[in-house]
Parts: sequence; C-alpha cells; structure tokens
Amino acid sequence: MPQKVISIRPESRSPGAKAPRYDGGALTDTLGRSMRDLRISVTDRCNFRCVYCMPREVFDANYTFLPHAAILSFEEIARLARVFVGLGVKKIRLTGGEPLLRKDLPRLIGMLVPLGVDLTLTTNGSTLVKHARALKDAGLERLTVSLDSLDEATFRAMNDADFPVAKVLDGIAAAADAGFSQLKINMVVKRGANDHQVVEAARHWRDSGHILRFIEYMDVGSTNGWRMDDVIPSAEVVRRIAAAFPLVAVEANYTGEVAERWRYRDGAGEIGVISSVTQAFCRDCNRMRLSTEGSLFTCLFAQQGHDLKALLREGGSDDDIRDRIAAVWRLRDDRYSEIRTLQTAPKPKVEMSYIGG
Ligand code: SAM
Repeated sequence: MPQKVISIRPESRSPGAKAPRYDGGALTDTLGRSMRDLRISVTDRCNFRCVYCMPREVFDANYTFLPHAAILSFEEIARLARVFVGLGVKKIRLTGGEPLLRKDLPRLIGMLVPLGVDLTLTTNGSTLVKHARALKDAGLERLTVSLDSLDEATFRAMNDADFPVAKVLDGIAAAADAGFSQLKINMVVKRGANDHQVVEAARHWRDSGHILRFIEYMDVGSTNGWRMDDVIPSAEVVRRIAAAFPLVAVEANYTGEVAERWRYRDGAGEIGVISSVTQAFCRDCNRMRLSTEGSLFTCLFAQQGHDLKALLREGGSDDDIRDRIAAVWRLRDDRYSEIRTLQTAPKPKVEMSYIGG
C-alpha cells in the first residue's frame, strides 16, 4: 500500500550564510562528475494520476499543491537558468508535474531559447493538440511524450484519469505537424501493468521516425509502493523486442546519456532503454533538478534540496547564486541507484512530481 506522502521541503539556510566565492575553476563534484543537464519543474500539478508516480490515494482532493506565490516565476526561472548555463549546463529539460498545465509556457520557452542550450520538454501529451504549434513557434526544438501503452484499458488503468490513448496520439501527430521531427516517446514498464505491451509498442513506433524509450519502474518518491518484483529489467525488454525485431547496439551520443541505444537491424529506426534500477548510471550522472519552488536537488532520489528561491527573493546577486550552486555541486556525492538496497528503497524521498521527472 502506498504510504501517506511525506512532505520534503528545501533545507533552511542560516540567514547571511554565504557560499565560498566560486573560483572559476573546473566544476566537478566529489566523484569527478561535471554539471551538464538541468531539469526544471514548472509545476507540481498534473492532470494524470499515474499509479507509479502520483497515486490517487495520496494525490487526492485533499492534497495541497504549492500555492502560486511559492512557485518560481518565469523571470526567476530564466535568471537561474542563465546562471546554470554560465556554470556549464548544456541541456535544459522542462518538466513537472505536467508542464503544459503551467499557463503561458511558450513565454518561458522564448526566454530560455537565447541561452543557446539544448532545450527540451517532457509532457504527457494530453494537451499537445492545443499547444504544439505555440511551443514550436516559441523556439522549442525537441519534445518527449510519455505514453505507457497503446492498449486503451491498460493506458486508462495506468494514468488513472480515464484518459484515452487516441488523444495522446493526436497530440503526437500535432507535434509532428508543427515541425517536431523526431519525438521521444517514454514508456515506463511495470510488471503486470503494461509489460505485455512492450512488443506492441515497438511494433507501433518502428518506422515512425520517433524514438521509443523504455524506462525501468523506479522507487522515486515515497508514495508509489515500489517493489523490486515490479521492475522489468531493460535486458528483458531488449530480449523480447529483439525476438520479434532483431536489434543492434548503438554508441551513446555523449558521456552520461541515460538511455542505452539500440537500432532495428532492418533500418526501421531505434529504441532506447533507461535502466536506472538494474544498471545504475550514477557514475556518469551530470544532472541537477530545480523544483517548482526553486529548490535545487542533486539526485532524483534526494531527501533534501538546497533553497535557491530564498537567495533570489532576498536580493542575492547573480554571483551569490552562482557561488551557492557551485558550492552545492562541489559537495555532491549522491549515487543512490548504485547503493540502493531493499532497505534504502523505502526511505522518504522527494516526490517526482515536485522535483521534476
Ligand atoms: N507529466 C510529464 C510526463 O508525463 O512526461 C512530465 C513529468 S513525468 C514525472 C516525467 C517522466 O517520469 C514520465 O515519462 C513518467 O512516466 C516518468 N516516471 C514517473 N514516475 C516514474 C517511476 N516511478 N519510474 C520511472 N519513471 C517514472
């Protein structure tokens, strides 16, 4: 049974405590990892109640989402993003919650495009028909859409919002029409829920020009009742697909890329598998997450964040913010997935909808 949600909030900062001045030197953490990717959660709200992410028993009508005043404004997000880019961030992913629920999101995209980074967004696709064109016009180049099954009953059971497959497929088509040429389609695979759909999904997306990526079901947060038995290892996913459509391994695009790539031998495109549970990639992890309310997390499985919003709102300069981020990164020693055990898995962790998936 899912436990009641454990509210984890940013760590408090002693007033006036300043991070040491950043010396401009190579910015690596205690394990020698550089900072490259930043995920920004623009809302903690979602219109789905995916059973593995925001179970309805917990995220119900009584659940308190962040009030508007607590969440970062677009101006605050853009300012922080600029500082991160100055420290070496090359890729920014907007996420949530469901990012397209955040009003006027294309305006934020327009503010981030001039930073010149690889800018992308992850969505459940439910409102893409309405938003795809404006996102593209604002300058977004890449898009990831989550879709856990093409089977109607399976999908509705997983999103627990009675949301139909067809509407997400329409959203994907609208995105393609708007000029998003190669979408990534994310499918979280949970044993007994949708694993019988793995080969069907591969069949559907082969030859589409889009890249289907299978994600191992993870023990993020504290509410999804995760059990190791529910994880289908990526190796099993690859085995099942290869039995139907022979696959060949492909080199990673860059160090720290989370998805392991495979292409169809017959030239019908490629798939990716993200094995965060069975083959942890902490060693190369170069990601940080900025929560909806401006707390910085150095690991998806973190128990504590670092409050940047207070620094912003108390009048900290860009240099102060830079110093704090650099100091946080230099002290980073997270490697949760490498040391995960059945004992660590149930520890209270921040929810993915809050920190950003
Ligand atoms: N609402 C957006 C969406 O649906 O893509 C963005 C946020 S969502 C948290 C980001 C991704 O995290 C989705 O692909 C979702 O399926 C995945 N995710 C959520 N909980 C997960 C879990 N326990 N294990 C693996 N992936 C998970």
